[in-house]
Amino acid sequence: MEWSKHNIVGRTKPSGTPFVVNLLSGNADLLDEETASPLLEGTPPREESEWVAKGYRVDPAEESRRWKRAYLDFLDSREKDEVQLFFVPWYGCNFRCDYCFQEDYGVRPASLTEEVLDAFFDHVAREFAGRRKYLTLFGGEPLLPGEAARERIASFLKRAAAADLEVAIVTNGSSLVEYLETLSLARIREIQVTLDGPPESHDRRRVAAGGKPTFETIAAGIDAALAAGHVVNLRSVVDRQNLDSLPGLAEIAKERGWTSSRGFKTQLGRNYELHSCHAAGGRGALYSRVELAEDLARLVRERPDFLEYHRPAFSVSRFLWEHGELPRPLFDACTGTKTEWAFDYRGRVFACTATVGKPGEELGTFWPESRMDREVVGMWQARDTVTLEECRSCAQALACGGGCTSVAKNRTGAIASTDCRPSRELLELGVGAYLEP
Ligand code: SF4
Ligand code: SF4
Repeated sequence: MEWSKHNIVGRTKPSGTPFVVNLLSGNADLLDEETASPLLEGTPPREESEWVAKGYRVDPAEESRRWKRAYLDFLDSREKDEVQLFFVPWYGCNFRCDYCFQEDYGVRPASLTEEVLDAFFDHVAREFAGRRKYLTLFGGEPLLPGEAARERIASFLKRAAAADLEVAIVTNGSSLVEYLETLSLARIREIQVTLDGPPESHDRRRVAAGGKPTFETIAAGIDAALAAGHVVNLRSVVDRQNLDSLPGLAEIAKERGWTSSRGFKTQLGRNYELHSCHAAGGRGALYSRVELAEDLARLVRERPDFLEYHRPAFSVSRFLWEHGELPRPLFDACTGTKTEWAFDYRGRVFACTATVGKPGEELGTFWPESRMDREVVGMWQARDTVTLEECRSCAQALACGGGCTSVAKNRTGAIASTDCRPSRELLELGVGAYLEP
């Protein structure tokens, strides 16, 4: 018997209690120092039976068979997963957020034609026949003010309804009120809106093109969307400059009745340098993943009521706390070209929202002709923790999933490269925050 290759061993933060998590066997335990000592020291335990029962001590050949079966299950279940198809009707936006990466792509006036829309819906029907799928409008800002943009979005939504496809929308929220009637043309799954904190924090970062503050207009749009029965996913893009203002946003969400609405949920995104984005406070304002998790854990310790507004994931910790069991092993964290694709009004096809519109990242076109670079698509689809050599021997692989292909490629130039996620550090913070008595 040997220690499992998939044991993730750490000490909770801040109290230092030892723990072990094994995503292949599906077990996780807080340990006392005496019980943990053989594991921490790597020596065989005197009493093996419990370690063996939980899959922390294994017969390597048998564990390898279980790992292969789990991988095949993962591939099977992904084949049946719903596919999310993003569509960018234009890259233009009526905001000038201080960190927006899309400013570099050249903003063009709306020129989404009926011909392109026909070609897009034909492509979806043909290429994703038999798959469960839904559409997501993305930008730029898809809900631009004005009659011309609204008429184009209406045309998109009518086609989606005719194809019986639900539509999600990622919007800055500034024109939600004027779009509510248009949105009734299709089944809307969710509206994702961004507020980066209470007004004093949000309005420093997310201003309209003319420089005007935007908080109150967006908040009124959220009020109206929730009252109309929509699901609103409120996202905040976080860096060192606004993290501590989030409890203020949570209070506003409570006062306005958002948190008691069934359709309300929240999401935090890290402001980071995916392409050329920047923070007003310079790069020093940006968090690494671990730094953000550390500050979130501190925030949750200081303000436990913040968890009523948002529960950070901390790798698999939140899942374990909410479900009482671990999620299934993650062999691939990247959905691009597998259960996610992105398309734009120029007829181009990309892997996902991280690459859409980025020069050199185009994988093909659906208009004016249908063509795909099968070789590059194949490289995206083959990249996972089984094909990446470093990941095969990594204890954290089944929590990390190999990270983001786009970030990995930005770092190394190669699709087949790693974007290491600090899974153990995130677990140390998350097990400490959620699971320690
Ligand atoms: S490349 Fe990154 S952002 Fe795009 S789907 Fe993969 S993990 Fe997500
Ligand atoms: S990307 Fe890095 S941390 Fe993640 S599984 Fe691969 S080697 Fe491990």
